Amino acid sequence: MFKTIGVIGAGQMGHGIAHVSALAGAKVRLLDISQDALSIALEKIKESMDKQARRGLIDAAEIAPALALIQTGTDYGMLSDCEMVIESATENEEVKRDILKSATAAMSDQAYLATNTSSISITRLAAITDRPDRFCGCHFMNPVPSVPLVELVRGLATKDETFEKFKSYAEALGKTVAVSEDFPGFIVNRILLPMINEAIYTLYEGVGSVTAIDTAMKLGTRHPLGPLELADFIGLDTCFAILSVLHADLADAKYRPCPLLVKYVEAGWLGVKTGRGFYDYAEDIPRPTR
Ligand code: NAD
Repeated sequence: MFKTIGVIGAGQMGHGIAHVSALAGAKVRLLDISQDALSIALEKIKESMDKQARRGLIDAAEIAPALALIQTGTDYGMLSDCEMVIESATENEEVKRDILKSATAAMSDQAYLATNTSSISITRLAAITDRPDRFCGCHFMNPVPSVPLVELVRGLATKDETFEKFKSYAEALGKTVAVSEDFPGFIVNRILLPMINEAIYTLYEGVGSVTAIDTAMKLGTRHPLGPLELADFIGLDTCFAILSVLHADLADAKYRPCPLLVKYVEAGWLGVKTGRGFYDYAEDIPRPTR
């Protein structure tokens, strides 16, 4: 287990990674460009730990010490004593490239580096760093505290020792590891995102309403969430970004993002995180937006 870790990006995934790492006893440096995102992240971590305690999943006495292990900030200097840094910012290759360059300049030469990207080539991201052999894909699932899987992805240059370090880290967090080769979307999103995209096409073509599509998939295929609810939960910008990577990197028209998804993203209706997507979350019971 890494003793001091850096997490870059304090959105829904980054704060989840900070949460589980601190509960496992690691000192966490949580970094974002937005001070607001950092304040919200700390509130969400506390809320989510309280919920785990109410459900008997953790002891309430663990919460204060875990929160005390999390330091937030916007300055890369805070990564200088980290044994490992994981990048979990917006799914955009340019953003990630800039972050990785700034992070490696601030990190110790011995430190390991990972990305939580959902789809972008690990080999390509590793190649722009000064340590491709110490770089690994470490793909958590949403919400991080409750979904028990981590996909680990080796880049071409990832050393076995690096892979083993990340495997031990994931297992110390109580996660099960699935190993994926470095192809766009890895395993989970290569399968999941085409299904979500097809659900959006089904809505776009008028085959079913939002409610009909989600009800059909929940009751008909025993999925815990319908595909449109799930898309809102992932974030429609993230869904669009992943589909765009699948479309461009696999060069197959079957991954073309549905124009209706593009429209929602253009409107800023990104799902749960902005309060509106395929559903409106203003009330207790989310209401379909079309
Ligand atoms: P999010 O939109 O909730 O959060 C992204 C965060 O990154 C924001 O707080 C933003 O301020 C920050 N950010 C943007 N540019 C930055 C920069 N230059 N420096 C520092 N911080 C910056 O997104 P998310 O859902 O947490 O996704 C983050 C990553 O995790 C993406 O790569 C995504 O593909 C991946 N992921 C997402 C899910 C999911 O279900 N949402 C699941 C697994 C992996």
